[in-house]
Amino acid sequence: MKGEIITIGNELLSGLVVDTNRSYVAGRLMTAGVIPSFMTTVGDDEGAIADAVTRAVERARVIVVTGGLGPTPDDITSKSIARALEKRLILDPSAERQIQARYKKRGINPPADASRQALIPHGGRVIVNPIGTAPGYYLVVGDKIVFVLPGVPEEMRVMVDQGVLSILETQGDADVYIVRRILRIFGMTESQVNERVKDVAYDGRRVTVGFLPIFPENHLTVTAHSSVSKNDADQIAQETADAMRAALGDRVFGRDDQTLEAVVGGMLITRGYTVAAAESCTGGLLAQRLTAIPGSSSYFLRGVVAYSNDSKTGLLGIDPALIAEFGAVSGEVASAMARGIKESSSADLGISITGVAGPSGGTKGKPVGTVFIGMAFDDGGTCSVRSHGYRFYGDRGRIRLISSEMALEWIRRYLIRGPSKNGEM
Ligand code: ATP
Ligand code: MG
Repeated sequence: MKGEIITIGNELLSGLVVDTNRSYVAGRLMTAGVIPSFMTTVGDDEGAIADAVTRAVERARVIVVTGGLGPTPDDITSKSIARALEKRLILDPSAERQIQARYKKRGINPPADASRQALIPHGGRVIVNPIGTAPGYYLVVGDKIVFVLPGVPEEMRVMVDQGVLSILETQGDADVYIVRRILRIFGMTESQVNERVKDVAYDGRRVTVGFLPIFPENHLTVTAHSSVSKNDADQIAQETADAMRAALGDRVFGRDDQTLEAVVGGMLITRGYTVAAAESCTGGLLAQRLTAIPGSSSYFLRGVVAYSNDSKTGLLGIDPALIAEFGAVSGEVASAMARGIKESSSADLGISITGVAGPSGGTKGKPVGTVFIGMAFDDGGTCSVRSHGYRFYGDRGRIRLISSEMALEWIRRYLIRGPSKNGEM
């Protein structure tokens, strides 16, 4: 079935806000067997919205519209849709009750124009908004179905998942079901990934395998389709992903939307390990990522941003002579930082990052992108350390990001394989 997505808002057209709704809706529609064939963005303009809806209804079976359902005068989506579909706007009593209840629950007096949001085109059926005030709705027009959802991404997402998908399911005439699995890999190039998976057999008529670099990771996508059922598509996608995963080994750190920090956090919890981080060039990015995970207080003890040489000495107890001899960006200092943070925090693992993020500060011996990672861990009653130098490429943001990723990867590798003999984990 063909689908079309229409996102509404001047802020999207001007580039002020990145349109994330369209990609989310597209991904979800695919799972319901609706293949998006057009995505249109229009400003807050009644004529333009009406035109876009008219054209979408001509060429697609399923249309999803997001944005412009708020109570303010620039929110004109419903009016425009009513115009395109030649319907009157009707005050929907259930939508109105939902809006009033929402304000009451928050203890706010509803604004005078709150009920405007309950004006929906005649025949529209309400889709509950569990987290915001603007309800959504859908309209069946012949064999077409038009979904209209608020623009706020979090609201739109739950309404797609809890509303749109189940409505599409009960409509029940999907001719193809599509399921996507993603394997997330860090530390291998696309060609290295390809080398490992190229001989894995799979049903090429029903499965497509794709390479998707999402810096600093490489994602392998497995997309399966079935004309029988969603379960059928799911099964073949799963089988293929499992076979690829077996060929790639533990270089695959996660699946689908699992982030590296979530995977590492989960492993730290199940193994009962604690960590502490000492960072220089990443300025706390590693600590930020480790603490982005709910429950991180059970494994993350502390993070120190030791940016200046003095702070490396003062906060981590590093001998100034060591910095003078090897430089702040060195394996020796990375090791000392890891040991310093482990010993002062009593964490099971101390992890450190020191490097040249650029664009200035590079030297011939240590060009921009030179980064050392260090790790300290218990080794039969004493504290052992490892460190290793990398040369990363890219701008400051990328170098900082890949450095934090590598540090997380070190923790993951340590938890899977134990300490390396020496050097890189
Ligand atoms: P409400 O006014 O009740 O919040 P609404 O349906 O009128 O809901 P908008 O005013 O269009 O929604 O947008 C609300 C917020 O969601 C804004 O911050 C807007 O930038 C953001 N937003 C809207 N559409 C998109 C989109 N396609 N992608 C990402 N963000 C979006
Ligand atoms: Mg808007």
